[in-house]
Amino acid sequence: MATADNQTRLIHSVSKVGIIGAGISGIAAAKQLSGHSPVVFEATDSIGGVWKHCSYNCTKLQTPRCDFEFSDYPWAERDNSSFPSHLEVLDYLYGYATHFDVLKYVKFESRVVEIRYVGNDQTTQLPVSVKSGQYGNLLTGHPVWEVAVQTSGDPNIIQWYAFEFIVICIGKYGDIPRMPSFPRNKGQEVFKAKSCTPWIILSLTTKPLVSSSRARKLQLLATRSQALIWLWSAPRQTKFLHERPNQSLFRALLCLLSSPMRMAISKFIESYLVWKLPLVKYGLKPDHPFVEDYASCQMAILPESFFAEAEKGKILFKRSPKWWFWNGGIEFEDNTKLEVDVVLLATGYEGKKKLQSVLPEPFRSLLVDSSGTMPLYRGTIHPLIPNMAFVGFIESVSNLHTAELRSKWLARLVDNEFKLPTVQEMLDQISREMEVMKKTTRFYKRHCISTFSINHSDEICEEMGWKSWRKGNWFSEAFSPYNSRDYCEEENNN
Ligand SMILES: Cc1cc2nc3c(=O)[nH]c(=O)nc-3n(C[C@H](O)[C@H](O)[C@H](O)COP(=O)(O)OP(=O)(O)OC[C@H]3O[C@@H](n4cnc5c(N)ncnc54)[C@H](O)[C@@H]3O)c2cc1C
Repeated sequence: MATADNQTRLIHSVSKVGIIGAGISGIAAAKQLSGHSPVVFEATDSIGGVWKHCSYNCTKLQTPRCDFEFSDYPWAERDNSSFPSHLEVLDYLYGYATHFDVLKYVKFESRVVEIRYVGNDQTTQLPVSVKSGQYGNLLTGHPVWEVAVQTSGDPNIIQWYAFEFIVICIGKYGDIPRMPSFPRNKGQEVFKAKSCTPWIILSLTTKPLVSSSRARKLQLLATRSQALIWLWSAPRQTKFLHERPNQSLFRALLCLLSSPMRMAISKFIESYLVWKLPLVKYGLKPDHPFVEDYASCQMAILPESFFAEAEKGKILFKRSPKWWFWNGGIEFEDNTKLEVDVVLLATGYEGKKKLQSVLPEPFRSLLVDSSGTMPLYRGTIHPLIPNMAFVGFIESVSNLHTAELRSKWLARLVDNEFKLPTVQEMLDQISREMEVMKKTTRFYKRHCISTFSINHSDEICEEMGWKSWRKGNWFSEAFSPYNSRDYCEEENNN
């Protein structure tokens, strides 16, 4: 059905629910909201997002299969301890989307270029529902958002769609690169790039390293590191090691008493990695404790043969927080110069700017708060942005698991199975979570819930009316790790 407004725009009104992006998050949301036959707009010709559009063929998942798994769709070889390639992740996602018949909702090559607010009170002020202190229903019976979609068939043609509720799943890693800033007259404009030769600066940041160089060593070390991290984080009883939002006085005391143990485990992991890898030799030992990397989801697995190539002198490292261009290459803080033909910036993406580029005011300005993060209740609802949800922006050690659980929560919220707290209560909960992140890691702007992810899942379950202790017996609660399978639909657990 299509309706025309009194201007020139033709508004398609084909579903109440629109989803933007068909990566892991968009597909998870589409499956959980399938009861509403959502429309999923995907800018490219494929689902999968970062797993489809990897820059490097050697990109692998860094989470074990059994953790990066939908609760109702096991990996074919879920106990295989090797880390799947990006193509295997893509295959797994296609298998899931096909099995649950989700692909039929996806409109490929459909990029959302603009979103307009058309709620009841179309002003530049906040909506009445938000001002009244209550968030309101997600399905209101009338369109709240209009979405402009550009199709690659003819980029000049924009189609408009109206929805009552929108889920934004456009990912954090892509589209808008994060560009470093340079002193005046020392930016890339002064660099006279020559032809493409192998002289490439791989990375100018010192990222934490948790694995080894050669393929087999990499596997072994990654597995051991995973084991240490598992001991740290996975079983419910390890929760007392880390501070979490809304903890009782007793737990706060326990957490305080266990802080020497927390630091000891962090030191132990650091020592193990320094012993196993030539981090000191290459000046790559991070200055901050391991626990801060864990708390900000910054644990990476290096490409195969990384240190072997360094050993051969094919990868050189230079630690320099500040650098700039000269016409023959780049210059560092210590005034040494490097002559290069190509400079490859591995400086990441501006996920929040990408979101801001499609949202209208006043919502655009509300997306990021004074701490530089997105204030999202349960990692999903912005208390001041009506009828809109965000999946995939607040990370955990398994983003697939988190995206799925939050989408389950969202689907029940859309169906009015429970009510959200007031706007103020949601904002308070968000600031308690942010306080914990700020205390745990200097990299809190990465917005990761890894240290309190079980607690996060517990609260989501409780809000949905599910049991939060999902194992069925005390022994398993104490010693067996939590993963997606523990969060199957509630009926299956009773
Ligand atoms: C190299 C790399 C390795 C990673 N490894 C892990 C890991 O081991 N474990 C883990 O948990 N996480 C990992 N991550 C994080 C990863 O981002 C998440 O696991 C997850 O895949 C994110 O999915 P997403 O759907 O939220 O975003 P994306 O995968 O980015 O998907 C977003 C989708 O939205 C589409 N889109 C964007 N803008 C628009 C628009 N305007 N209109 C329509 N469509 C649009 C894009 O085309 C894309 O398909 C890794 C990320 C990277 C980059």
